[in-house]
Amino acid sequence: MLPTLASALSAALLALLPAADVVKPAATPAAAPVQGAEPDPQVIAQFGLLDNAKLQSYIDQKGMQMGRISDRPADVKGFTVVDSPIINAFATPDGHVYFTRGILAYFNNEAQFSGVLGHEIGHITARHSQKQQTRSTLTTGAILLGSILSKRVASVAEPLSQVAGLGLLKYGRDAENESDGLGVKYSSKIGYDPASMADFFLTLQRTEQQSGAAGVPTFLSTHPNSADRYTRVKKLAVQAEQQAGKQLAVNRDQYLRLIDGLAYGDNPREGFVENSVFYHPELKFQFPIPSGWQSQNSPSQFQMAEPNGKAIIVLLPAGNKGLDETAQALAQQLNLQNAQAQKTTINSFPAVVIQGDQVGQDQQSGQQGVTARTLSYLIQDGQTIYALVGLTSPSAFSTYAPQFQRTAQGFQRLTAADKLNRQPERVRIKTAKTGQTLATALAANGIPSKRYEEMAILNGMKTTDKLTAGQLFKVVGK
Ligand SMILES: [Zn+2]
Repeated sequence: MLPTLASALSAALLALLPAADVVKPAATPAAAPVQGAEPDPQVIAQFGLLDNAKLQSYIDQKGMQMGRISDRPADVKGFTVVDSPIINAFATPDGHVYFTRGILAYFNNEAQFSGVLGHEIGHITARHSQKQQTRSTLTTGAILLGSILSKRVASVAEPLSQVAGLGLLKYGRDAENESDGLGVKYSSKIGYDPASMADFFLTLQRTEQQSGAAGVPTFLSTHPNSADRYTRVKKLAVQAEQQAGKQLAVNRDQYLRLIDGLAYGDNPREGFVENSVFYHPELKFQFPIPSGWQSQNSPSQFQMAEPNGKAIIVLLPAGNKGLDETAQALAQQLNLQNAQAQKTTINSFPAVVIQGDQVGQDQQSGQQGVTARTLSYLIQDGQTIYALVGLTSPSAFSTYAPQFQRTAQGFQRLTAADKLNRQPERVRIKTAKTGQTLATALAANGIPSKRYEEMAILNGMKTTDKLTAGQLFKVVGK
């Protein structure tokens, strides 16, 4: 967890030149819609919007259908797929439900999707946010409710989501159980087999065991006793099936065809880290990350943090108003005292370096004073200015200033073809032949053996499972 230093500064960083963005344009909601009908711009800034009309229209259709049969149809407002490899689904207090492309890749049928959709709608219709907020003092903008967290959110995203002002709201056992029950109820009401939701808990459990992330919040540690939860949902599902009085749908093949071609894992087009260097193929630059630091990329910024949160560097777009004007705006946004700006050149890019003390309110004493010291660089690449903002406490400045400096001075044009042409992996749906196990089917499709377990989890199977001729299964590839 980053200390108060970083979280106090985050607002200033986010306020800085919000119109621009590093990766691609964030969604601009239409004028004055029903609150919650459009995705929250803060969530989109954090995760990005997935450009996939087929999937978006599928979740709109299923979401609206389920909203109508829910206990509070008017509270369920909208649905969005975000462009993140994190395995997650969540609802915001305004009645909007989000799925990441990461979680959509891991579902193996429509019934699993429907169960998680019902669980999230359940958080909205049971009004868990209102109940939670009376017990919590969270005041940040977007609060993510009832997250189903898994490995990719783990080590880095949790502390850094605080920096971005996205507090993750967690529920207790009662709220989660209530939502599981509502998930069973709602998904069976629209015709899906609710037992599949329980199976998906097992998939989540396997992704966490595989990632082996130590000491981080996971679905299992944030949700009490998942074995109980699995058993409970299976039991509720049997009742729901009896009540339905008909065969409920699973729709495996339909779902798999729907996600054929979906990006899997990180999308390197939006920037990627390799051997402690950040590369951005679209914007064609690179710079080094201080060794051992954690990093997280989002559409609006790229954040690097010292492992104990003692210092951070944030890369963010800073518009195109020219270096002098941007330097003044930065000093103002960061509330800097005695700021000193100096022109320089970094690998032939015109630049300005700014040092100054940030004045703010000390979170402990409440007194006004110097809360942080910054060494920031504004770097001009054609019409675009990038800000690399380094922040730490005044006492640690001499320790971290050289790292801020090395990162900024390592900013250079990206020219390596293998980095410029990097493409994301995608989910590919294949058809099994007679006599194949999952492992032999993966081998026949060129999957290296070190990825068999990962692919088995993705398929919700064991590597030794026998496939029937014509059965569909997932692989990943370019
Ligand atoms: Zn939940």
